[in-house]
Amino acid sequence: MSRTFKSAGERVSSYEDDFKDVWAVLTGDSVWVEHFRNNLPIAWKAAPHQFHFLNANDFARQGRKDTLGITDKMTGNITLLDISSNGAQFAAMGAALHELVHLVSAPANQGKKIIIFEALGEGLMEGLTQVVTEDILAKQHIEPWTEHKYSARASIVRSLIALFKDGVGMFGRALFLGRGSELSPLPQRFGRQGFDDIKTAATMHDLSVIKKIGKP
Ligand SMILES: [Zn+2]
Repeated sequence: MSRTFKSAGERVSSYEDDFKDVWAVLTGDSVWVEHFRNNLPIAWKAAPHQFHFLNANDFARQGRKDTLGITDKMTGNITLLDISSNGAQFAAMGAALHELVHLVSAPANQGKKIIIFEALGEGLMEGLTQVVTEDILAKQHIEPWTEHKYSARASIVRSLIALFKDGVGMFGRALFLGRGSELSPLPQRFGRQGFDDIKTAATMHDLSVIKKIGKP
């Protein structure tokens, strides 16, 4: 029987069942799922069906000291930071779900960096991935996990989504279909330089940019 998560802080490990159970949350109810539904069978086929683990030292050695996971979009491998203190190799379910959102982002068959990465920059892309993660959890009444480092980035993306009537559709098609043109209302609204400044602020976790983004 598959597991029902109550909190995104629950532990997941390298068992195939854990991968399957987090996958079931990803594919469950959310406002975003319609935008990545077609990617699901493709990503499932292309990816190894278990999470891999690295300890903090090994992550840092790869220059990734601020991250809880890495999804290799070339291979579909997902490596999570082992948050145990004794090498027991587990991570929070919320961190694993965030990585699965990367996995189903375009291209769903892997083999290439996330298509929308250049258009959004690291900060907005990670923020958007975290917004999708948080929305899936909220819709399914799973308590959020607060120890990730993306809350400022997610808030900045939420303020951008709120500017547009079809904000979810716009960002969903950009991330999951790889359609950069969906994002053209952003430089139109802020100017190219203004939008670049927002991208930079998001990468720097600089919440003050939300004032500049303004209200719809
Ligand atoms: Zn990420």
